[in-house]
Amino acid sequence: MATQQRAPLKPLSDALAQLLAAATLIADTQTVATFDADGRVLAESVVSALQVPPQDNSSMDGYALRVQDVATSGVEMPVSQRIPAGSSGAALQPGTVARIFTGAPIPAGADAVVMQEECVVLAGAEGDSATVQVNASPKPGQWIRRAGEDVTQGAVVLSKGRRLGPAELGLAASIGRDTLAVVRRPRVALFSTGDELVMPGSVAPQDMAPGAIYNSNRFFLNSLLRRMGCEVTDYGIVPDRLEATVQALRGASAAHDVILTSGGVSVGEEDHIKPAVQSLGQLDLWQIAIKPGKPFAYGQVGAAHFIGLPGNPVSSFVTFLLLVRPFLLRLQGVADAAAAGVSMRADFDWPRADKRQEFLRVRRNAAGGLDLFANQSSGVLTSAVWGDGLVDNPSGQTIQKGESVRFVSFAELLA
Ligand code: AMP
Ligand code: MG
Repeated sequence: MATQQRAPLKPLSDALAQLLAAATLIADTQTVATFDADGRVLAESVVSALQVPPQDNSSMDGYALRVQDVATSGVEMPVSQRIPAGSSGAALQPGTVARIFTGAPIPAGADAVVMQEECVVLAGAEGDSATVQVNASPKPGQWIRRAGEDVTQGAVVLSKGRRLGPAELGLAASIGRDTLAVVRRPRVALFSTGDELVMPGSVAPQDMAPGAIYNSNRFFLNSLLRRMGCEVTDYGIVPDRLEATVQALRGASAAHDVILTSGGVSVGEEDHIKPAVQSLGQLDLWQIAIKPGKPFAYGQVGAAHFIGLPGNPVSSFVTFLLLVRPFLLRLQGVADAAAAGVSMRADFDWPRADKRQEFLRVRRNAAGGLDLFANQSSGVLTSAVWGDGLVDNPSGQTIQKGESVRFVSFAELLA
């Protein structure tokens, strides 16, 4: 044990590469309603059977006309037809205008739309019998949305491996797709380990025994897993005993793609995850050079992937975002699963360099910089609520106020 402890810790980038390489695509696919496909990953490339918009149409309420009929601004012309959205007009008679509304097809022969604010209705009620004065000098093509300007027929509008969000669902619907082929959701078994843990609701705060704490990891891990499109089986709390840990992991391995545990993966005598995994399968990765989050483990239990997260809540939270999130996305076929981050100005000093790559809880301020949460302890979950992202500080580096740092927002990591 002592010799393993001294082995150099694996850099985060190596650990991530190893995890992504091990994340073989889930082979099962399902057809789901586009309406219900938010967060799922496409198992097909979506090709458009039509062009969008289907025809040239007006982007204004106004009058469709021929530019050549408007020699000068102020010309008066009869309204020969009325084309609301959802109908289609006849070819435009020369020397007339067509009353037209936003989204309605441009009649054959017309080559511009003049908005109604630039026209005066002269004779009779507005309609077929009216005459309008066109107080504009239209340019060919104005206020016309061209057929196919959004999507051309035969275009791949969404590629296989694309994660579906609101915009993707709208685009799929715009080409008539009411169902989509997606990858089956990853099935994840979730375990919390620790004899000190108590489920909220089972013991009132005033009745908590000395040394007992509420199980917080279960709640954010369940939420994170669901956001990543997973189906979660919650196994609750596993006691700190090897036999119980082995039994729990073995039981979950058959019916799940992934077993995710928190706690019990350090080197203490009460940490049974590591020997349990080794007795049932294998451990391929253990301990990485990041702070918080060093006691991270990856391996196999039966046919299931095993991921062991640290027990400290912030370590658990951060390692999920940095490693488990891209792993789960890759299982579903997302090619580019890692968060990009942006360069931002640090409005704080970080004078102590660490050997490990650090992830600091920070918040964007109104001046366009980043403020640091005062307590960066791996047990202080308040930092993740106060903060809106992480500064990725390379190993061995200090930060001086005003320097540029890499910031990864929780918005990006939780999407
Ligand atoms: P461990 O990795 O099991 O040694 O746990 C490290 C620290 O995290 C200890 O202080 C534990 O009490 C705490 N911890 C472990 N699991 C949880 C959990 N599910 N919720 C809250 N804190 C936890
Ligand atoms: Mg523990």
